[in-house]
Amino acid sequence: MDMVTTPAFSTKLLINGELVEGTGGEEKILNPATGSTLVAVKEASREQVNAAVASAQAAFKTWSLTTPRRRSELLLEVVEHLKKNIETYARLESLNCGKPYLGMLNGEMPAIIDAIRFFAGACRVLNGSAAGEYVENHTSIIRRDPVGVVGSVAPWNFPLMMAAWKVFAPISVGNTVVVKPSEQTPLTLLRLCEFLAALLPKGVVNVVTGRGESVGSTLVSHPGVAMVSLTGDVTTGQKVLQSAVTTLKRTHLELGGKAPVIVFNDADLDAVVETVRMAGFENAGQDCCAACLVYAQSGVYEKVVEKLNAAIKSIRSGAPENEQTELGPLISQRQRDRVESFVQRARTTKHIEVLTGGKPTSGDGFYYEPTLVVGANVQDEIVRREVFGPVVAVSRFETAEEVIDWSNESHYGLASSVWSLNTATALKAAARLRYGTVWVNQHFTLLSEMPHGGLRHSGYGKDQSIYCLEDYTSIRHVMFNFS
Ligand code: NAD
Repeated sequence: MDMVTTPAFSTKLLINGELVEGTGGEEKILNPATGSTLVAVKEASREQVNAAVASAQAAFKTWSLTTPRRRSELLLEVVEHLKKNIETYARLESLNCGKPYLGMLNGEMPAIIDAIRFFAGACRVLNGSAAGEYVENHTSIIRRDPVGVVGSVAPWNFPLMMAAWKVFAPISVGNTVVVKPSEQTPLTLLRLCEFLAALLPKGVVNVVTGRGESVGSTLVSHPGVAMVSLTGDVTTGQKVLQSAVTTLKRTHLELGGKAPVIVFNDADLDAVVETVRMAGFENAGQDCCAACLVYAQSGVYEKVVEKLNAAIKSIRSGAPENEQTELGPLISQRQRDRVESFVQRARTTKHIEVLTGGKPTSGDGFYYEPTLVVGANVQDEIVRREVFGPVVAVSRFETAEEVIDWSNESHYGLASSVWSLNTATALKAAARLRYGTVWVNQHFTLLSEMPHGGLRHSGYGKDQSIYCLEDYTSIRHVMFNFS
């Protein structure tokens, strides 16, 4: 496909195996690069959410009994479909999210495909841990069984990746799913619905679109939903937990991050700068693992600031379909206003300086300049809170103890990195940092085989890896008396 060819938009939801228009209110789906409307999608009504849950409950009875091999075969058909139509999905996601097309095609799409391929394999080797005689003439078996209907709720920053994690992980181990993509970015999942409707038994996957406060809250509070899987904001996670109280649902929460990048005096600074230039600005910084908070030790602080400043100035912002573009727009005007308000409040703080960028880009679309903020203290908002935009802050530290304490006092605990050429320094820091992921001399690489998830306010659900499949299953004990 040519880089600028626009695929047709699918607007139908998937409920009980049927592709149907939503019967709720209409949501305009925007192109963030221009601000124009791509298409309107009608959200699911309360009755449609109820029908989707009922269908998933009915499908669970048979889907939960299918063999891992059969589920794996079906997931591998999804893999083949995505491979065959990779350009269409990359283009749709690029249009809907403002992601640079080539990065989507060559970076995100292969990772999405690999995630599904991993679940297709891993579901076949997921075991209960033991069978044995713990009482004479009795055999105990530990089983891992699906939980039931999973209500999955996804954010706008990685729509198809989140669908891969939140649909194909749970169904690979025998659950059925009702998934709600973000109201702003449903287009890739709606496109995939057309294939899933023909591939899967009805009810195994249901897709309902719409806003969080209407469709999302109806779904997560539904008594027929056994487990809620959310990637989103901390406050949304708190609402999900509150609504889970009455029905005692299992919850799987992944809620944001503020990743410290800890640069010791002996670090390879060129590698640090090259990595932050990429990992601080990929997806316009709208990534919960973004390398957005650099703590540089005092011996290299000035050098880090100088080199990073030059590197950030060289970032090429532009139209997502342009081959040279590294930085696309933010997702919405609202998100751009939010980023701008963080930077403006930092700018008016005496000891903080905005060295590069620091304002919306003129012209169409929701672009924001790649921005470097220096001199903030650990108490300052720009250090504490998730900005979720193309903004990197650099702050100075003196000792390892101090920077590890600061990092561990953060509300967030998702991802971090340590930069030092001394193995002992790096290992000691990595052991003490209380983050779901610690990278050493690198930042950003997520793997299908390795768990992704946080601590503290970043939530506790694990995506990717066998641990994710464990999250979506229940441990049970079955005991045989053969005396
Ligand atoms: P959000 O919490 O506003 O929305 C996430 C999803 O929740 C959307 O589908 C939304 O419609 C839905 N939602 C909102 N209110 C709801 C409610 N009351 N009940 C049920 N559903 C509701 O977050 P967002 O703005 O779409 O996404 C950005 C956030 O997601 C950031 O904070 C980011 O850090 C986080 N995030 C975390 C990870 C991770 O892996 N931990 C990954 C990506 C994004």
